[in-house]
Amino acid sequence: MSLDRIAVLICLAGWLALVSTAEAAPLDKALIVDGQNNHKWQETTPLLKRWLDESGLFTVDVATSPPKGGDMSKFQPDFAAYNVIVSNYNGEEWSDATKTGLVKFIRAGGGLVIVHAADNAFPKWKEWNEMIGLGGWGGRNETSGPYLRYRDDKLVRDTSAGSGGHHGKQHPFQIVVRDANHPITAGLPKAWMHAQDELYDRLRGPAENIGVLATAYSDTATGGSGEHEPSLFTVTFGQGRIFHTTQGHGVEAMHCVGFITTLVRGTEWAAAGKVTKTDVPADFPTPDKVSSRP
Ligand code: ZN
Repeated sequence: MSLDRIAVLICLAGWLALVSTAEAAPLDKALIVDGQNNHKWQETTPLLKRWLDESGLFTVDVATSPPKGGDMSKFQPDFAAYNVIVSNYNGEEWSDATKTGLVKFIRAGGGLVIVHAADNAFPKWKEWNEMIGLGGWGGRNETSGPYLRYRDDKLVRDTSAGSGGHHGKQHPFQIVVRDANHPITAGLPKAWMHAQDELYDRLRGPAENIGVLATAYSDTATGGSGEHEPSLFTVTFGQGRIFHTTQGHGVEAMHCVGFITTLVRGTEWAAAGKVTKTDVPADFPTPDKVSSRP
């Protein structure tokens, strides 16, 4: 082969490498944290990971804390190495270094996703409560912040006394979009039937810089509050973005296509401030019929 021809081949190889690099957009890096939860995190983390993996938008790692009673000082995930942290954790306090690391990461523009009982964690951690907006149990009460109600198409801060965090009997329930202009909910049906789940009610928290995307009516007939409860919402904290879904008690709820779709959209928004996967899946639930993916 002549030197000229070799030079041409080298140029061609370089050009191909450039083209392929340009075409492959970098994936957002997501980190799921788990290890302690009064829910079956060993079953639900693999599902969260699966839905995020299958979206093709993320690389997903998992950081598992020591079990209850273990040495929590050893749990020090490198949050700053990721774009978004997905919390499936509800357990013992993290070390000060780990807490500080998360706060610094979110303040600087990182993303956080709160799934169901993750909002039960850390009732006394001030910045955590600011980041999650609303939480439940762990002694939360009127000193934690207001109840956030949705009455007559308006958000109402209810400061009346009472404990924070409750749910009635598990059942399928309807999710109603309250903000269709947010990238997470844009283009989705106005309402859909969510698979059997716990419907969290009476959550309390600082509820600052919060945007409620969707609510669910907590019927007193199933032991609920008789209020439209925030089900999907966002919080901003510093430069950071938090997506909070109160759905996802167990695997049945997490197979709901509405849960999957909003999880993927919410995680991308928290990671990058935008949603690129804007299609509505063909198997999306209707207002009165559950649709679950196998
Ligand atoms: Zn639960």
